[in-house]
Amino acid sequence: MQKKIAIAAAVILLAAAAIYTIIVFTVHDPEKHIAEIRSDGEVIRTIDLRTAPDETFTVEADYGTNVVCIKNGQIYVSEASCPDKICVNHGPLKSEYLPIICVPNKLVIKLK
Ligand SMILES: [Zn+2]
Repeated sequence: MQKKIAIAAAVILLAAAAIYTIIVFTVHDPEKHIAEIRSDGEVIRTIDLRTAPDETFTVEADYGTNVVCIKNGQIYVSEASCPDKICVNHGPLKSEYLPIICVPNKLVIKLK
């Protein structure tokens, strides 16, 4: 019986440690501040979000255009020519696992 309790406690501890690790590395990762902008698979700009001044620029591809905004250390797509506007609705880039992707315009903005 005591063995079972010990095993259960070990499993709970391991699970807690795993959850803690996931939270620390995905949500509070201060190392992830370099944004990479790719258009049609090619890196067109790399931006250090800690030091980047506020800026708005347009990424033009053969497929369409995206207006990219950098404000207060955050990067987001403010306007786009694509029909779905998924890239605009994504909002600011926060996690390396959730890149801003505009499929119609072949634009990807991600943290690296
Ligand atoms: Zn889009």
